[in-house]
Amino acid sequence: MENPERVSGLWMKKSVPRATCPCFPEEIMKKVAIIGAGLSGLSTAHAVERQAAAAGIDVAVTVFERDERTGGKIWSIKEEGYLCEWGPNGFLDSKPMTLELCDQLGIRDQLERSNDNARKRFIYSGGILNRLPENGPMFLKSKLISWPGKIRLAQEFIKPKRTDGVDETLAEFARRRLGPEALDKLIGPMVSGIFAGNPETMSLKSCFPRIHELEQEYGGLLKAMIKLAKQKKAEIKAGKQVASAAGPGGVLTSFVGGIQELTDATVKGLKGKVQTGSAVTGLKPVSGGWELELADGGKFDADIAVSAAPAHILKDLVTPFDETLSGLIAEIPYAPMNVICFGYEQGKIARDLDGFGYLIPKKEGCAILGTLWDSSIFPQRAPEGHVLLRSMMGGATNPDAIGLSDAEVKQRTMAELKKIMGIVVEPDFVRVFRHQRAIPQYVVGHADRLVAIDDSLKKHPGLILTGNAFFGIGLNDCVNAANQAADQVVSCLKKND
Ligand SMILES: Cc1cc2nc3c(=O)[nH]c(=O)nc-3n(C[C@H](O)[C@H](O)[C@H](O)COP(=O)(O)OP(=O)(O)OC[C@H]3O[C@@H](n4cnc5c(N)ncnc54)[C@H](O)[C@@H]3O)c2cc1C
Repeated sequence: MENPERVSGLWMKKSVPRATCPCFPEEIMKKVAIIGAGLSGLSTAHAVERQAAAAGIDVAVTVFERDERTGGKIWSIKEEGYLCEWGPNGFLDSKPMTLELCDQLGIRDQLERSNDNARKRFIYSGGILNRLPENGPMFLKSKLISWPGKIRLAQEFIKPKRTDGVDETLAEFARRRLGPEALDKLIGPMVSGIFAGNPETMSLKSCFPRIHELEQEYGGLLKAMIKLAKQKKAEIKAGKQVASAAGPGGVLTSFVGGIQELTDATVKGLKGKVQTGSAVTGLKPVSGGWELELADGGKFDADIAVSAAPAHILKDLVTPFDETLSGLIAEIPYAPMNVICFGYEQGKIARDLDGFGYLIPKKEGCAILGTLWDSSIFPQRAPEGHVLLRSMMGGATNPDAIGLSDAEVKQRTMAELKKIMGIVVEPDFVRVFRHQRAIPQYVVGHADRLVAIDDSLKKHPGLILTGNAFFGIGLNDCVNAANQAADQVVSCLKKND
């Protein structure tokens, strides 16, 4: 996602000058408290220490984490020779932020790129797994989209661009430009694969700002693809190194020991403290800073408080001093999700696991959103001679799935693995993980909400918000937002030095 410049506690469009940053007038700010030790909180702590050191500012950072472990959604669980990711299984190497963090932590040589043979992605439709077409000739041959659907998709070229500035849902955008079949079979599954979201409510502008920009800049997606491909060719001819211009692209990247190596290394690299098992239960503006109340009854005074906690926690923390701000934050909903890991003996699976996995259009009426072939993506995730599959169930289109018992979740997932992949044997290994609030949903109105939140924050100098609820849910987005939060902390510290 593109990165507007932060100006107050959150961020605003690039056109707003940084000079509006509200900072404390008198004291040198030294104590920085960070709420939440997920990737957002930890990488903010790392960036604050790094940037403060570069500016010659002495800063003491303390990260408060509710759970007994750090990492938040990141948790790589090793059991019986399987490596199961509770949450994310990696980041894309097409953006620099997380790679730069790895460089700074000295762990770049430990990165593991996903397997080249696992690039193929599938969509379950019409009773079969259809390979997702990657180019024009593949698209024409593919049975995934019918001929009328293909013709409708090709008409995207002549559809006028929307110019009324309306914050459209992903479904409205897809129906308008690409047609209903592309919405069902391409856009819907993509939205559930990334956000566990519902395209009928999610904002195009906030979820996929690049797609919105391509329409505005080039008049349409096909026009943009053609122009950008030409541009890329010319740049390659001129000897320039170019990345893919249109989509996110990139290679899914993790570590041999799982993505948790990233947050573990960030904790290890910090000079400051990370207090686990220490939930922040209250946040109070006090003269010259912020007072944090902790679950054990303790208090902590800080010059700057950075929240990297989820929106549903943050809203309660701000209610006592700003109900409007709390109300705005409360409008960011979350989708729940079950993650189900299955280990099988490889020889007992008839199908070749020659790809990344598959997603399922809502119209297929399945309980699961899709399945990742984790041990094909990262080969060392299962013991020798075994495979690891990871299915996702629930999301914004099927929120009740979070209420199913483990036995029901297992049974429904196995029934679908049988129907879709022909797996009839019992798994050797099963784990069901729960995310009551898995992923924040950037529903229509999200961009305006961010502006209003930013406005409210101007009344609360020294309170800075970051985390995946606001400006991107990908790990790269979290690190990027953390860097911007740290910029703001350090510029306030500098201003008052
Ligand atoms: C199943 C799943 C799969 C995903 N897959 C990918 C993927 O492959 N690639 C990708 O880029 N992204 C993926 N994501 C998204 C990504 O994992 C998240 O957006 C990211 O990890 C969020 O990090 P965060 O630090 O902002 O939030 P969190 O990880 O949620 O961290 C917030 C922290 O705040 C703590 N906290 C809460 N309340 C308090 C309190 N009162 N006091 C102190 N601490 C508190 C929590 O315990 C938690 O540790 C996935 C997400 C899920 C759920």
